[in-house]
Amino acid sequence: MRREQFELFKKMLKKLNENSPFYKEKFRSSQININDIRSPEDIKYLPFTTKEELNEAYPLGLQAVPEEDIVRIHSSSGTTGKPVIIPYTANDINDWADMMARCLRIAGVTPLDRVQITPGYGLWTAGIGFQTGVERIGAMAIPMGPGNTDKQLQMMIDMKSTVLIATSSYALVIAEEVAKRGIRSKIHLRKGIMGSERWGEKMRNRIKDELNIEIYDIYGLTEIYGPGISIDCQYHTGLHYWDDYLYFEIIDPKTGEPVEEGQYGELVITTLRKEGAPLLRYRTRDITRLIPGECPCGLPYPRHDRILGRTDEMVKVKGVNIYPGQIDELLRDIEGASSEYQVIIEHKDGKDIMTLRVEKEPAADPTALGRKIAEEFKKKIGIHIQVDVVNIGELPRSEKKSKRIIDYRYN
Ligand code: ZN
Repeated sequence: MRREQFELFKKMLKKLNENSPFYKEKFRSSQININDIRSPEDIKYLPFTTKEELNEAYPLGLQAVPEEDIVRIHSSSGTTGKPVIIPYTANDINDWADMMARCLRIAGVTPLDRVQITPGYGLWTAGIGFQTGVERIGAMAIPMGPGNTDKQLQMMIDMKSTVLIATSSYALVIAEEVAKRGIRSKIHLRKGIMGSERWGEKMRNRIKDELNIEIYDIYGLTEIYGPGISIDCQYHTGLHYWDDYLYFEIIDPKTGEPVEEGQYGELVITTLRKEGAPLLRYRTRDITRLIPGECPCGLPYPRHDRILGRTDEMVKVKGVNIYPGQIDELLRDIEGASSEYQVIIEHKDGKDIMTLRVEKEPAADPTALGRKIAEEFKKKIGIHIQVDVVNIGELPRSEKKSKRIIDYRYN
């Protein structure tokens, strides 16, 4: 943690302790004296904030400034029936627009671009978050919102949109329609900015090729401003995040302890400047890792990896946390392996045994492929597994990736 970052962190703690009824009570009940936090190493003693607590604070229990300072609210769906309401001050809105503008500039968007925004507007943060960022850099926003693909395509052609902002699944719908209608020559898109959800490389390539665009992954969540807290640059080696606004930690979701540098785990975020609803060590439930070292682009902002999935998809085998997204990534880099796989975990003779069943491309040699996968697994994920290579079409198909892991140990 940088020195300036820790100074911001301490200032933030002091403000929470003075102004936030939610955190005052939290510090009291967990017997935390914020004056005991003297170095970055002490941060791990501070309590986490969970989505359940945000639900319980409904509607405005998180508010940490007087009523007259709040200028807007947004909301996200909750884990229970109640949504989470996040109040924003004018400074929060301004900071968020600055962060989004930074994202757009890194993606190479200029004042000459015309940006078609297809995520939803309203209580949802996506549409309006992009909108304010686009306006901040002086590009032209085309605030479509979601759906109505006919109209989207008509505007895309008539307005000569150059940047498409969409979820990956909606971008695929657009790409397929463009191909079906044979209108690619009328499309002027050059860039796409898409949410960092876990999506297959095949889908990404399809969108890229059909629309002839470069794709940037953007990340964010309503609890922490909204989209725009990180984005990947032209080197696509991970997403740069804004450490002058946010402090990122990666923890083991089972134990709550910090993981080793560069390891996957749950992303935990502390807002360093937020006023309306500041959050301390918020558990996002998103799985990623911090990427050590510097990016070739030379930007001063650190990087995290793409989001590999959600904490509830995690399994622990031989003491190592494994996420389906990690296996996707691993198989993607191995020639001859298809993206279809199934994991079987058993407990025999006092030991965990993991079998990875993988479908192979028709030309691949099953023995060599099996050996290669086992080697890579040991090298990248750290445990020895058994590999069972099967032919295309042999494994069951499921929409949900988490269904690919069958754990017999607790049955
Ligand atoms: Zn970079």
